[in-house]
Amino acid sequence: MGRPEVCETCGVVVVLVLLAVAVVGLVAAGLVVVPRAQAEAAAARARAERAEAELAVAEQRGSQALRDLPFVALRVREDGRLIEANAVALERFPFLVPDMTILEAFSEHRLAGGVDRALADLSRQGFEVRLFADGRRTYRASVAPYEVGEGREALIFLTDQSEAVAYQELRSQFVANVSHELRTPLTGLRGLLEALDDPAMDPATRRDFVARATSETQRLEALITDILFLSELETAPGRPSGSRSDLAQAASATVADLWRVAEDHGVRLELDADGPAWTPLSDRMAATIVRNLVENAVKYAGPGATATTRVRRDGDGVVLTVADDGAGIPERHLMHVFERFYRADPSRSKRLGGTGLGLSIVKHIAERFGGRAEASSREGFGTTVTVTLPEEDA
Ligand code: ADP
Repeated sequence: MGRPEVCETCGVVVVLVLLAVAVVGLVAAGLVVVPRAQAEAAAARARAERAEAELAVAEQRGSQALRDLPFVALRVREDGRLIEANAVALERFPFLVPDMTILEAFSEHRLAGGVDRALADLSRQGFEVRLFADGRRTYRASVAPYEVGEGREALIFLTDQSEAVAYQELRSQFVANVSHELRTPLTGLRGLLEALDDPAMDPATRRDFVARATSETQRLEALITDILFLSELETAPGRPSGSRSDLAQAASATVADLWRVAEDHGVRLELDADGPAWTPLSDRMAATIVRNLVENAVKYAGPGATATTRVRRDGDGVVLTVADDGAGIPERHLMHVFERFYRADPSRSKRLGGTGLGLSIVKHIAERFGGRAEASSREGFGTTVTVTLPEEDA
């Protein structure tokens, strides 16, 4: 048996065919694969570009939103340096520039520390700080950190609490003053009642003590009435619905009412009012304003003085003036007389049943209707208090 005959040419042909098939396959595969890879790369590039554009838009929107916030808003980098500040921030703190640290900007360690902590722990921080900007003001600081790419940033919001703090202070001061004012007549009253308990007291002293106890209770009553009226004015701001009052009528009624008391104090009352002068006040408010001013003239002008109450329609306003030619108010006291519980002469005011609230009530009522109350005075020459109110159609 001979060896099978090998067809060498056939082998070469087979190898060549296989090679050709492989090459065609590779080329064919290449023709498909290369464009797909290219397409994928292009799509990825487009996606990246789109994401970048979206990020830019989002950032722009974020910045715009930040800029429009009605309170102080700052954006800081991870190292606590300023990236941007909104309009309110720049208005309050014009010294802010990009890249400065919070500590450099405000010299306030509590704020800088809070920002550092927020960025380090990625935790929201909230606290109160006192910052310097046209006077020391109290701000509620809120620091909100967040991640961006590899790093971190934080938004710092500062809301001004000064008004709320000042209001709180005013309230507690008012409560303290009220307590003090109420305690004084109460203490006096208790002392008098204890003394009256003495059976050996002679009738004349007893009568005197009873009269003093009565005047202390009247003082208490006046105080409580004024405090309640003030609190009523504060709790129901705005115009009482449908109210309307003739100030000229209130003035003539008050002058008639106080004529006798004025005479007892040696003060002459005059009235100068021609025709009705309608205001948006309630009748009680109108009567309170005129009475407080005329009573003050009666109490403080001194014997021999004349107090003139004048009501005028002036342009589209109504002007009430109560002018006396009496003792006057020393200049150092004049600017304070509209403050609650302020008395230029405390012992005289208390002796005459003053509460220290009369003028503050007058001012409060006037301002509530967009009007104003002013006082001018010269020691030894007299006092004029002027109240201007809007006129109401007749
Ligand atoms: P009071 O209840 O003490 O009268 P007011 O608020 O009405 O309180 O007035 C404040 C202070 O202003 C008074 O205590 C008094 O010292 C001073 N005052 C007000 N009106 C006059 C006036 N016509 N003449 C002198 N002093 C006045």
